Amino acid sequence: MADCIFCGIIEGSIPAEKVYEDELVTAFKDIHAQAPVHLLVIPNQHIPSIQQVGEEDSELLGRIFSVMNRLAVDEGLAERGYRIVNNCGDEGGQTVHHIHFHLLGGRSLTWPPG
Ligand code: IMP
Repeated sequence: MADCIFCGIIEGSIPAEKVYEDELVTAFKDIHAQAPVHLLVIPNQHIPSIQQVGEEDSELLGRIFSVMNRLAVDEGLAERGYRIVNNCGDEGGQTVHHIHFHLLGGRSLTWPPG
């Protein structure tokens, strides 16, 4: 989608440190990492937020979670634990309107988030 930073990262017009990509899903390092491991995992298809997710996206969401599981193992987080975050909408703290999941780990994370 025009003017979407994350669509630009998927197609390669905006640089990013990609750690995974396939025909459905892309993962890359967050530019403002909040933990030693901070990846963003996104569908290649432009879906603005969870509010636009429907039944037809079940397989895609399943793939995203399977990729996050694999990345957590690859990053050495599986034994220690980690956090997956999705911010939805303005009060949810969403700043980029292409659905994404934050995969955070490598330190002890506090709860609740602010
Ligand atoms: P949100 O606040 O949940 O929407 O998260 C958006 C995330 O995207 C933030 O953690 C930003 O640091 C990150 N971000 C924004 N632009 C870029 C970029 O160009 N590359 C990598 N991460 C980005």
